[in-house]
Amino acid sequence: MEEKREEGERCFSEDPSGILSSCRLCPRQCAVNRLLGQRGFCGASAKLFVARAALHFWEEPCISGKEGSGAVFFTGCALRCVFCQNSAISRREGGRALRPSELSELFLRLQKEGANNINLVSPDHEIPLLVPAMREARERGLRIPYVINCSGYECRPQLRLLKGLADIYLMDFKYMDPEKAQRYSAAFDYPKRAKESLREMTEQCGEAVFDSRGMMRRGVIVRHLLMPGMVRDGKAIVRYVHEHYGEKVYLSLMQQYTPVPGLSAYPEINRCVTKREYGRLLDYALSLGIEHAFIQEEGAAKESFIPDWDWL
Ligand code: SF4
Repeated sequence: MEEKREEGERCFSEDPSGILSSCRLCPRQCAVNRLLGQRGFCGASAKLFVARAALHFWEEPCISGKEGSGAVFFTGCALRCVFCQNSAISRREGGRALRPSELSELFLRLQKEGANNINLVSPDHEIPLLVPAMREARERGLRIPYVINCSGYECRPQLRLLKGLADIYLMDFKYMDPEKAQRYSAAFDYPKRAKESLREMTEQCGEAVFDSRGMMRRGVIVRHLLMPGMVRDGKAIVRYVHEHYGEKVYLSLMQQYTPVPGLSAYPEINRCVTKREYGRLLDYALSLGIEHAFIQEEGAAKESFIPDWDWL
């Protein structure tokens, strides 16, 4: 009898090298041969490209701390939202191609510079290439946590590759309304996928653990970037996370949405979020009795929060 498989289980075989030869890693299910240089929706190849690596001070306090988070930004993205704040890297080719040993070296360098963690930003499409580097760095003395800073648009088997390696998930939960997910990210199934991803993340990382300095060592933070005119969607996300996970999952409610050039076809989101809109979302979270939440100060929607992409 054929074994019953969970939806999304067909994303790839057991053999990591088989993943890239017909890439069905993420919900896009492109089936391109990345080993032969074919590119799918994310634009990634068989090489792992890093756009920037540096100490980063603008994450949640329990992630950045005073010393900074060791952020490693990967080129490409499987979601490619029209309002992307990081489009300089999510839609371009480039960065530096690194082998696993070079990447693990980079992690160790960031640890030496005082990073509180290794913060892997938009790694979803690179997970099979990333895992060997994460393992190698641990074997070579990496002690700080790995933070998986991801979009929420994943397959559960894709995330299972990180089981035992991921310490903290910092997950975006962008939309609850499939129509909005389709309009802004060409991903009608985003809400369903995000719910499945969150389930997997909480199973892997469980209850939050903090060290004596208040830095997170383990756990899940769900981020929601409030978008203009979308308070109702934001409330639905807050309600869902609270009803299903209570205080086990931390919420981070963000108001730093910044309209980027090229949004003329989307006039309804071509502005910042108002103080009133953000206040309504916070009031709603408070009315539910949510205590484990991070909020942003007024004035967070500045371009200065968008990093400069010069490096590596
Ligand atoms: S990781 Fe990239 S190539 Fe693979 S299925 Fe997703 S979007 Fe397509």
